Amino acid sequence: MEATSARERLQKMLADLDRSIGVLRGDPRSVNDRSPADAGSDLSDADRAQAMLTVATAQRRAVLDALKRLDEGTYGRCVDCAKPVPEGRLEARPEAARCVQCQGKRERRR
Ligand SMILES: [Zn+2]
Repeated sequence: MEATSARERLQKMLADLDRSIGVLRGDPRSVNDRSPADAGSDLSDADRAQAMLTVATAQRRAVLDALKRLDEGTYGRCVDCAKPVPEGRLEARPEAARCVQCQGKRERRR
């Protein structure tokens, strides 16, 4: 993927995440915008919002890291093994920091 288009996609993701995080942190407009089906869930609304906020915050950090790698010229290389991250993976997840193998290893460790 071209660095320019990667940057555009990452910046758009960042803007979307900032918006979501703002909503999750308690924009009152989002409170009434909920379907009745959610009411029976085990998780309270606050817990669910907190879980989504955690995910969005982690992804925002990943996007910022990817933009930093673009600046440094290391974008598109796995941060663990330095091999190129496959094009298709970057298309699907422009913020991906690792190749599939290293990401898999990392997730198995958890
Ligand atoms: Zn790797």
